Amino acid sequence: MKIAIVKGDGIGQEVIPPAEKILRHFLPGAEYFDVKVGYEKWKETGTACTDDDIKKLKSADAILFGAITTPPDPDYKSVIMKIRHELDLYANLRPVKGDGFDIMVVRENTEGLYSGIEEIGEERSTTLRVITRKGSERIAKAACELAIKRGSTKPVVIGNKANVLKSDVLFRDTCIGVCKSYGLEYKTMFIDALTLDVLMQPSNYDVIVTTNIFGDILSDACGYLTGGLGMLPSANIGDAHAFFEPVHGSAPDIAGKNIANPIAAIRSAGMLLDHFGYCEYAALVEKAISASVSMGVCTKDLGGNYGTKETGEYILTEIIKEE
Ligand code: ATP
Ligand code: MG
Repeated sequence: MKIAIVKGDGIGQEVIPPAEKILRHFLPGAEYFDVKVGYEKWKETGTACTDDDIKKLKSADAILFGAITTPPDPDYKSVIMKIRHELDLYANLRPVKGDGFDIMVVRENTEGLYSGIEEIGEERSTTLRVITRKGSERIAKAACELAIKRGSTKPVVIGNKANVLKSDVLFRDTCIGVCKSYGLEYKTMFIDALTLDVLMQPSNYDVIVTTNIFGDILSDACGYLTGGLGMLPSANIGDAHAFFEPVHGSAPDIAGKNIANPIAAIRSAGMLLDHFGYCEYAALVEKAISASVSMGVCTKDLGGNYGTKETGEYILTEIIKEE
């Protein structure tokens, strides 16, 4: 197995090493290689992500990714968007786990309002919202596969706004068809009401599938249910590639101080293990994280006074103890 490691910018440089260490602990036989992309590289070389970098990333079975600063500079093109597009990472998975709830937001990652088809004018600007049967079908399948893998006892929830956005009729109905073909229970909900209800009654939910921007907003809102940005991992999955990254960005304000919370990155490594079938390893990672948080061995954002490195070391020690 080949694993590409991209630390990226800012706190990516600090939170990825402890996560990589945990991966190496579980998968010592894998081949690891660093790929340097991002804003720092852009400042040094004028290119944030070269074709050669994409080739290297494509050669990996899995990518563990930190974060990349996207500066307001109009000449700078988003590296993440390029990677998502080139590797066709159509499913964005964002688990939100806490006391009594375990939710998986499955967000379509390639179309919808992020189609990139726009007309920008002084008086009128438009963005085309593209929904295709193929795009809806493959994201619905990803959601159903996950519901089965998780042994979900709750219906797959299809988040939509088909009452107002007629393009969502295709999304909703395609998802319904896929759920039926899997023999899974489903429930359709309007995204606004759904967002409120998930925050009020998170234990009623398991897998939620929705379109691009709705999933983006919903999963950020769900961040409220957990200890914040420093806790949230994510995966971007395609048919041929798999990419794992913390939800948070490069947080330049706290970079280089050894205070960033490494848990989101470590959980992303846990998702990698889970994705490739090492489910017991992933469970050990979660258990060790819970132990460290409940022991108060955590960073400032969670009320602790441990550094990034020390927290990472402790979690690894807990893993070794549990094995
Ligand atoms: P970017 O432009 O790369 O998204 P950002 O300034 O928007 O960077 P984010 O990483 O999105 O920063 O996070 C917003 C704020 O949340 C940060 O400024 C930081 O204070 C806090 N934060 C984010 N991630 C972490 C973390 N892992 N540990 C502690 N605090 C964090
Ligand atoms: Mg940000």
